[in-house]
This record gives sequence, structure tokens and C-alpha cells, in this order.
Amino acid sequence: MFTFKQTTDCIKGAVMQQHSPSTIQYLLTDSRKLITPAVSLFFAIKGGRHNGHAFIQELYNRGVRQFVIENDQIFDLTKFPEANLIKVNNSVQALQQLAACHRTGFSLPVVAITGSNGKTIVKEWLATLLAKQFNVVKSPKSYNSQIGVPLSVWQINETNTLGIFEAGISMSGEMDNLERVIRPTIGVFTNIGTAHDENFKDREQKIREKLLLFQNCLVLIYCQDHEPIHQEILLILKPEQQTFTWSRTNSQANIWLKQLSRTDSSSALLIQHKQSDFQLTIPFADDAAIENIMHCVSLMLYLEMEITEIQNRLNLLQPVSMRLELKQGINGCYLIDDTYNNDLAGLTMALDFLNLQKQRPIKTLILSDLLETGMPEAGLYQHIAQLLEDKDINRLIGIGEVISRNRKYFHLPAQFYPSTESFLQDSLYRKFSNELILLKGARTFRFENIVHKLQQKTHGTVLEINLDALAHNLNEHRRQLNSQTKIMVMVKAFAYGSGSAEVANFLQFQRIDYLAVAYADEGVILRENGIHLPIMVMNPSPETFGLLLNYRLEPELYSLTILREFIHFLKATNQSSGAHLKFDTGMHRLGFETKDLPDLIHLLQQTDKIKVTTVLSHLSAADEAKFDDFTRQQIQAFESMSESIAAVLGYMPIRHILNSAGITRFTKQQLDMVRLGIGLYGVAASASDHLGLQTVGTLKTTISQIKQVKAGETVGYSRRGKIEKDSTIATIAIGYADGFDRRLGNGVGKVWIHGKPASIVGSVCMDMTMVDITGIEATEGDEVIIFGPQHSITEIAASIGTIPYEILTGISERVKRIFFTS
Ligand SMILES: *Cc1c(COP(=O)(O)O)cnc(C)c1O
Repeated sequence: MFTFKQTTDCIKGAVMQQHSPSTIQYLLTDSRKLITPAVSLFFAIKGGRHNGHAFIQELYNRGVRQFVIENDQIFDLTKFPEANLIKVNNSVQALQQLAACHRTGFSLPVVAITGSNGKTIVKEWLATLLAKQFNVVKSPKSYNSQIGVPLSVWQINETNTLGIFEAGISMSGEMDNLERVIRPTIGVFTNIGTAHDENFKDREQKIREKLLLFQNCLVLIYCQDHEPIHQEILLILKPEQQTFTWSRTNSQANIWLKQLSRTDSSSALLIQHKQSDFQLTIPFADDAAIENIMHCVSLMLYLEMEITEIQNRLNLLQPVSMRLELKQGINGCYLIDDTYNNDLAGLTMALDFLNLQKQRPIKTLILSDLLETGMPEAGLYQHIAQLLEDKDINRLIGIGEVISRNRKYFHLPAQFYPSTESFLQDSLYRKFSNELILLKGARTFRFENIVHKLQQKTHGTVLEINLDALAHNLNEHRRQLNSQTKIMVMVKAFAYGSGSAEVANFLQFQRIDYLAVAYADEGVILRENGIHLPIMVMNPSPETFGLLLNYRLEPELYSLTILREFIHFLKATNQSSGAHLKFDTGMHRLGFETKDLPDLIHLLQQTDKIKVTTVLSHLSAADEAKFDDFTRQQIQAFESMSESIAAVLGYMPIRHILNSAGITRFTKQQLDMVRLGIGLYGVAASASDHLGLQTVGTLKTTISQIKQVKAGETVGYSRRGKIEKDSTIATIAIGYADGFDRRLGNGVGKVWIHGKPASIVGSVCMDMTMVDITGIEATEGDEVIIFGPQHSITEIAASIGTIPYEILTGISERVKRIFFTS
């Protein structure tokens, strides 16, 4: 905690205005994450697309009184009479400076981790491994950037006895800043790969830059076998600095990994350290995990931990999943399943994610005892109680002896149970309805049993939606556009099969400008799920006009008939509405044609009931270079039709014509707004797409049964699956009723099991499909991938002569969607 005076002294900014002395407890860089206005300091940061200065007024209205702003921003002080304002050259630097001042108040050992891969896993594992000896403070999630690092370091408090922070850079000049903030005493360098190569002269320069993190460390821990890292370290090492290395081949390293033997899911490491040999077993068998664990083991040996203790702690390690999952639950509930991570920082993150879901008004937290936080019990639960109050949680279910005996600190409606079993024996959970439920429990509480009860039953087939990929794809498109250009996102057809309420909620958080759906009912569903963005309805019909008005949905008007009917309705009900005018410029689907313009203009002049918010047209072939002349003609025609309308309206409505392919291929013609569709969902809209889009959806199912089928026999209906040689056949839990296209049957399509292709035998049935898994080691219950990041939906579409749109939108609504973010 800093006073305002300490803060200004530290960041050396110019105090523009000081209204009252105050303290600073939270550093805020994203206005959407505000919790405790009175003790927050907002850093207005200029980013690629958003300028933090634009949110100062909103934050002031919500009670924030302390701001750091940049010099070149014009600022009207009279609007913020009660604010404390500091002006600086660069807000990010000021943030770093403040965290650096905070850091100097503590003399604890601090581990810093950098390298191309494994930073987050090594950090999380070290925190687990060292939790018994130390009260650890660590970076939340992958907070390793110029902004994430200062926010992480700001968390250090008097009770901490060890800091573990990760640092990542994407270009030169950045690491020096992070070093000043973290001031590590122990460095861990994981490895070096190709990420961000383009921003560095060569590999050596990138390594040297990363090594700046360790310039004041007492010791550097790394693997000697990465020759370029080893060489650079030898060059920069200062006489007072020590190295502590491991190697697979070099017996001279501090730790020599002499021998490695693996089973399917575990490995035995024979290690030589200080001339003696010992063996450790770890619950992992993949190379990356072994490398990450060796870094951890090195640090523990450097700290002189006992071998038996190291082994005991290694047994606790779990795969690091930073994933927060949003699932559909019973009685209209949503579940946020975060049963992995149960430290305080993780709780804060999960509560933030809970607060982003506007689909339901009531927020319930099911929380177990927090283990190994190193904090005294009373302080810990007081802190949590405060957090729940700050985050507006409506109800707490506390599970465990410890949280139960600290119940007096919680002032919200709460129930306590000594164990997960006792909670499940109570019938309370059956009555949960229409709420958001966050489940956060330590492993030993086995909250998966609660998830199982509260989750809507799935039949093995799920479509997983990666919200981070969705954000990435949105930003890839944003980067193409001018900063003023608005974005309308098409969430028609259940958001291209991805789940409209959840995707729309996410887009609302991402501050897009508009949503569009095909039909009024789709818009109603969005409104009923907390979506307040403007929504355009592309196919309105007179029967739905009432719904449109009641739910603040704006129709796209495309013909004189529908326009007349809408005006008539507005007059009859004495209402007015915004509306969108669609022009047909060559698609010949919906839209006013040039010949309709005189009548259209006449009708618009006659009424004051309609405000034309936008005008639009749709391109027929924006993805095909051979039709580029036609596309340009369409755009031209649209511009001239828009002019005629603007002339009579007296203003120019927002104009939009580009779809996803248009955004990438006709970027210059972006006009005032674009309509993003398939590209957001991670499918390249045209062959020439240069955006690095990420796959959003993974469709997966499970194996229901495995059989040995003899040569000469047949599989499935009409005996179509003829078996030529003795084969292993798996029945998987997906069929055409799930949207698994029948045309994929009889050897056309394949699915993926343990990374291996299995082709479809016989016809696809309604709820099931048989695949040939001969030669693939698999058991009943194993996962089957239909498509996903590794297995492109575009290929599946091509194999049956259709387009990805059809495959995506064809996935039946009975297939459960699971949304996740890391
Ligand atoms: C569906 C649709 C879009 C989006 O198209 P994509 O090819 O998915 O980008 C844009 N405009 C209109 C009118 C649409 O119907």
C-alpha cells in the first residue's frame, strides 16, 4: 500500500491536481476489472486499439479518484474536481516504476523465470513444490508482460517469504524494465525457441536480451545442453555470480541426469548430484514435462532440500491447466469449473471471470479450504471475505473444516459443510437455478463430484470453444482496421454453432460495437442473457415487430413492402425505432435496388418514426480474386446509394459492406463499420488470408465400445462396412443427429484417436459411428477428436464438397458447448 505522496515521489510525475490525501492498494490498467474504486490507482495506457484515457470519465463516475495520465493528452480538469491526477511521459513506465519502488520494500528471495517455453508451468510447479517451506507470492496465470510483471510484483506483502515471477519479452529493450521491477535473486532460464525471432537480430541477441533479467542474480539455473544459452551465459557471468546447471550428457554439470526410463505415464530419473546417485520418480513421461521438472529439481537441490522431501513434493504435481471452464449446468445454471488452482491469486482470477458472465444475475461461489497459502488462518479468511464483498458475490457455500470454523468473517448469505460428501448429501444443490456457480476447490476435496452433479448431462460429445482464440482472432481483424472503424459481429445461427449467448457475452466484454442475428428470437435470447449491445436483426417479419421493439432489437429493412409494414406498425403503436437499410448491389438476395430509391426516399421523408442507424450491402464474392472487379463495382454502387440516402436524411448513417473475406482483401474499403463472421471463429475466409487465425472450436466425443471384427464380416446398416481383413472397430458417440455429416461415411471421413487417424467404416448412424482403429492403442472411454486445432474443419468440409460454415452451423444444439479461457 502506498500513499498518494509516496506514489508521486516514486514515479516522479507532475501532480496536476491533488484533491485529498489517499492510499493506493490496487493498480488498475483495465477499467473492466475495477473492484475497489476508493483505493485504486488507474493507469491510463495507450494500446494498439484502445486508449485508456477514454475510460477516465467512466471510472471517475464509478468512484475512482486516482489517475496516472500521459502528458500529451488534453484534459479538462473541471470534469474531475475530486480527483488526484499525476501526469507522466509514459504510463506503462510509471506503472513499472511504482512496482519497482514497492519491490525495494522487501528483502525476500525472488526467483525469476524466462525462456521461450515452460515459464508458466515451471512457475506453477515451483510454487507447489516450495509451498511447504515458503509463503510464496507468484505471477497470476501467465502475467509476464510489461504490464503483467508490475501487477504481479505489486502483490508482494510482508507475509511472503519467496517470490516466483515469470518474465517474457517480444522485443529488445523490454527485459531491462522487467529486471528493475522483479529484482530477482535467483534466475531460471528454461530454453530458447523461435517465438518473436522477427524482432531480434539473431538468436544470440535474443538470448542476451533475456539474460538481462539475471544481471543482479546470485545464481543462474539452466540446462547446459542448450549450447547457445550456455555460451552466452559464460560470456556475461559476473565474478560474484554462480551457475547451477543440469545436463543429460555432461557429468560435470551440478546435476547429471544419467538415466531416464519411462512408462506410459511416469518416469524414473537417475540423477547424480555432489558425487552421489539417487532416483526420483515423476508422474509424467513427456519430454517437455521432464525438462520443466529438471529445472524445478535443480532449484530444490540448490536450496539444499532433502531428497525424500523432494520426492514427496514431486508426487503432488499435476498437469498445469490454467483453464477456466464455463459449462451449462442444471436448471439454467452456468458452472465455472476451476477445480485445479486453489491459491488466492487464482481465486481472484476466477472471480473476475465469474463477473464477466452477464448471462445470470446471481453469483454463487462454492469454495473449499485453501491449502498451503502460508497465511495465518484468520487473516486468510478475512481477506477472502473482503474479496467476495468486493466482487459482489451473492452466496457462499464453504466446504471444509477450516473455512467452516472461520464462518464468522463472512457476511453474505452462506452455508458451510465439513466435507464434499456432506454437501452432496444435502439436497440444497438440486435447488440451484438460473445462477452462475463458481467451483473452486483444492484437489483433495474432489469437487469434480459436485461438477458431475450440477452439470447438464452430456452424452460424451462436446464442442469446446476456446475464448482466448476468439479474442486473438478478433484482435487479428482489429489490427487490419483503422481505430475508428466499428465492428459488428455476426452471431447468427447460434454464433456459427459456437453458442450465441456465451460468445455474445464475451464480445460485449471485448467492446465490439454491434451484434447481428438472423431472426428476432435469436436477438431475444441474447437480451435475456444480459446482452445490452445494439443488435441488428437481418430477417425481421411483421409478426416479430412487437418483439423487436420490446427487446430493443433493430430490424434490417430490405424492401419497400417491409419498410411500409414497419412504418405502419410504428404509427399504430405510436413508437419509433432505429433501423438498418440493406441495398442490393449485386448479390440479389435481400435489399433495395436502385429502382426502389425514389420510393424509399419518399417513405423516409414522410416519417419521423424511423432513425436510419446504418446502411449496408453484402458482397457476393469478396473471397475470390477473379471477381475483384465485380466486388469493386458493388462497393462503388453501395457508396453512391448511401450518398442518395444521406442527402435526404441530412446525415450519413454508419456504412458497412465488408464481411470477413472483405476485411482481409478489401481493407481499404472498410467504410465506417465491418461485419465480421467466419474469421472470428478461426476459419480463414479466403485462400489468401494472411491473418494468423487460431482455431476456436474442438469437436470431440468418446469411444463407447471396441470390437474385433473378422475379415468378411460387415459393420453397420445395409452391411455397407465390408471388412477386408481382421480389424478392430470402435463405436463412437456421435452421429448425424449431432451434425456429423452422413456423407463422411464409408471411408470418406476420418477421426483422430491419440493423434492417429481412424477412418469411418460403414454409414454414419443417427447417434453413433463406427471407425477402424486397427493398430491404434485405445480403450473404451478414450477421447476421439473430430476437428480441432490439429485437424482442420476446412479439410473435412472439402472432403464432402461443402464449406466450413455448413459443418460449424450444423453441429446440433444437443451437443454441449464448453467455453474455456486460460
Ligand atoms: C453472414 C453474413 C456476414 C458474415 O459473413 P462471413 O463470410 O462469415 O464473414 C456478413 N454480412 C451478412 C449480411 C451476412 O449475412
